[in-house]
Amino acid sequence: MNSSTISGLSTDHSPVRGATIKSDRELEAMREAGRIVALAVRQMVRNLEPGVTTAELNHIGEGEIRKLGARPAFLGLYGFPATVCISLNEEIVHGIPGERIVEDGDLVSFDCGAIVNGMYSDHAVTAIAGKETKKKRALVETTKVSLDRAIQAAQPRNRVGDVSNAVESYVRPKGYELVREYVGHGIGHSLHEPPQVPNYGMAGRGHILMPGMVIAIEPMVNAGGWQTEVLKDKWTVVTADRSLSAHFEHTVAITEYGPEVLTAL
Ligand code: MG
Ligand code: MG
Repeated sequence: MNSSTISGLSTDHSPVRGATIKSDRELEAMREAGRIVALAVRQMVRNLEPGVTTAELNHIGEGEIRKLGARPAFLGLYGFPATVCISLNEEIVHGIPGERIVEDGDLVSFDCGAIVNGMYSDHAVTAIAGKETKKKRALVETTKVSLDRAIQAAQPRNRVGDVSNAVESYVRPKGYELVREYVGHGIGHSLHEPPQVPNYGMAGRGHILMPGMVIAIEPMVNAGGWQTEVLKDKWTVVTADRSLSAHFEHTVAITEYGPEVLTAL
């Protein structure tokens, strides 16, 4: 995995190796890490309004994670300087919180992880601050529904391509594009484990999803083209054409009975 990114960078196209099967005890810790990050993200979304700074939102998220007894997963990871990636409008992922003031109508993506007993969770939500437009709401809803569809495809003995294709086949006919350079990933003892989980691909292809595997599924949907750029801060990823982008992510355990979303409340 690339060493300087919090969403997996899609560079490895070799067959998947090393996807781990989690023990019940490991899964239990991941459930708790997932619950805590979900509560932290909910708290930030509740406090999202025009006039708030992204640093204040990060502070709220970090406070919640620590209060609930977990550690922030992103803080210091690969050198990232905050607990939450907060990405606005044309920013896709890895936005650094700071003194920037959220404006009315901003599309705000929160991406955050927590660690409990050495086990990781990863979760992202996009919300609109203040006044919505139909266009922004449609982009957000499409991204959210594509994640729901991908989760439903994460059935035991399905393949990664079934998950990828569930996203792509829903999103692209609506005229949106999917980010290609950054992908979902296995998760557990570290934030990024095999396999990679792209948001595009062919059903029936790729690694088999076995009970005990845990994957982070994270569609990043652009209103314009799929191409991305990294800003001068070396972190913030934006759409190359500066079109709007939305991002949702859940950490999902594959079980004999189907997918179990660890980052839902
Ligand atoms: Mg992730
Ligand atoms: Mg994430």
